[in-house]
Amino acid sequence: MPTLCHPTRTIVPVLCLLAVAGLSALGAQVTYIDKLPGDSYTRQQVETAAKFYGLEVVVAALRDGKDRVAAIKAIRDEKTLAVIVTANALAALDEPQVLSAAHKDGRHTPLLIAGITGTTDPALLMRWSGGAITGCRESAISPGTGSYAIGNVTSITRQLGGSVLPLNQREVCYLTFASGRGAQWLTAVTSASVDLPVFASGTRGDREVFFATASDPPNIPVGPDPYREPAVFAALAPEILFLRYAAGERGWHSPGHYANLTIDDAWLREPFGHVNYEGLLREMDRHNFHTTLAFVPWNFDRSQPALVSLFRTRQDRFSICLHGNNHDGQEFGSYEKRPLSEQANDVEQGLARMARFTQLTQVPFDPVMVFPHSVAPEGTLAVLKRYNFAATVNSENVPLGAVTPSDPEFALRPATLVFSNFPSVRRYSDEAPIPASQLAIDAFLGNPLLFYVHQNFFAPGISAFDKLADTVNQLQADTQWRSLGVIATHLYFEKVRDDGNIDVRAYSGTLHLDNSYKRDVTFFVEKEEDFALPVTVFVDGQPYPYQRAGTRLHVELPVREGTSREITVKYENGVNLAAVDISKTSWRVAAIRWLSDFRDDVVSRTALGRRFIQSYEKSRSAWNRSLALFAGLLAIAVASGYVRRSRKRLIPQPPPGAVSGPST
Ligand SMILES: [Zn+2]
Repeated sequence: MPTLCHPTRTIVPVLCLLAVAGLSALGAQVTYIDKLPGDSYTRQQVETAAKFYGLEVVVAALRDGKDRVAAIKAIRDEKTLAVIVTANALAALDEPQVLSAAHKDGRHTPLLIAGITGTTDPALLMRWSGGAITGCRESAISPGTGSYAIGNVTSITRQLGGSVLPLNQREVCYLTFASGRGAQWLTAVTSASVDLPVFASGTRGDREVFFATASDPPNIPVGPDPYREPAVFAALAPEILFLRYAAGERGWHSPGHYANLTIDDAWLREPFGHVNYEGLLREMDRHNFHTTLAFVPWNFDRSQPALVSLFRTRQDRFSICLHGNNHDGQEFGSYEKRPLSEQANDVEQGLARMARFTQLTQVPFDPVMVFPHSVAPEGTLAVLKRYNFAATVNSENVPLGAVTPSDPEFALRPATLVFSNFPSVRRYSDEAPIPASQLAIDAFLGNPLLFYVHQNFFAPGISAFDKLADTVNQLQADTQWRSLGVIATHLYFEKVRDDGNIDVRAYSGTLHLDNSYKRDVTFFVEKEEDFALPVTVFVDGQPYPYQRAGTRLHVELPVREGTSREITVKYENGVNLAAVDISKTSWRVAAIRWLSDFRDDVVSRTALGRRFIQSYEKSRSAWNRSLALFAGLLAIAVASGYVRRSRKRLIPQPPPGAVSGPST
């Protein structure tokens, strides 16, 4: 029985560490066989993809006969769910022996032959593919002319079938096929309208063997741009597709497919620019999607009763999260302009105002922050964590001024805990084109698809989002469109362990665990936690013990078949929201909010007005300078007119009937 750590008890950390080390030894493994133990790019690709799915890599290098025996033993190991042999190692292996070792409990362990180059002996490829693959050739690709195409083999390429991905290679090795021998390509380089297979399958008796050619490490700049994902994925596609196929439920996978549309700056009032909530609801019911309002807490007491009742009764389609506090410019920007202490006050006041909003309307809100303009610096994310927010969702998930992690996994997942252990999640604007491959990759990887727009987006009609909703629903028929709060409670990955129980890697503080396995299971939950704040864990509202190991928090939770339980990690902050001043005392903030309402409800009604808003959003400082100059000139003109009129009153007027001089 593992030692338990409890917030109210001090336990020797070493004991906890030992107990926890025992828990993680129940995962599955990939046996990787190479001629030499060196660190090739092929091995790096395998290790990255295996880590992505939470699989351990066991490396077997074939230096002598003893190594061959060990390699066969590793293939036979019950924990091995996939075998990857490099092309270099083929000659040293006895093919029937490998295939027989990879046949366990009446099923074949999937086998990939990786790192194939132009120097690989064609006779070996023929033998291992049952004559289907005849060789490998090299071809130069002119920069910017090629792309990857993903084949339509549903069991392996799933949602990615038919996708086109960016190619970052100057030269490719491609496989040649014998006709009519059953080889099929899964990934090909398309160049000059010709498909050159780089990842393929061939049948060997009654089993499939996969083949992948070698590639060079791509040069993809590391940065916060979410649209790096297709390039990063393309470089790992054969290994990720193969291991997804081989691991299934034994590899990390998400508890479902989730999506959400958020409208920024929206509040419970009409007119709100081009948004008509009844009309939007009709579209959501017809095209199956959900809308969250990124609500500015300053508007907490300005809701219209008819919309309050609509949002209260249709919580399946409408929800609300926080969008800053006053939304007076970039209120959560650099600390030189607004210190962290002021930003913390704004977070606190925003929460208190939303609590009052719920009191006034009985409409709930999700403690999810969408920062106005762009994501805040990391210190502000730590503040959100202290206030028990569930997540922050923004167009970039790397905080202002922070360094983007170079780990490829970072580019492939929308949520990260790297910054202050707080879930920072990226979202996509539907106001600009989103690459189709990005959506397909996210669906394949089980990433939540989060979109956002502003009211202007609906200028052509309230049906403006229907097309993207349809695309997502076609890509993944069981997509669940939910609030950002519900999505945050499903921000975790799970995988089946050797003992049939479930490992969970959590991102958010509150987790809704559904036991959809056809048996009672125990969830072994693990969450990155810096323990910078006192922590209490609750299960279904009751305090529950947890284990602490270094920077990880572990909870072991049995869940009966077909039921759900909720784990909440709470941080103590000593804040009493009811005592926070929520009054609106600033004239500056009031003026900005009224001007924003005027922009959304009046200026944006005409095409010219919308063009002005677009241009203003793009070149805010240039417009501000021009408007200031215009206001200055107007003030001078008004003042000089006033002076002239005053002077006129002082100059004696000619008697009526006198002739005036010529006008100038
Ligand atoms: Zn905004």
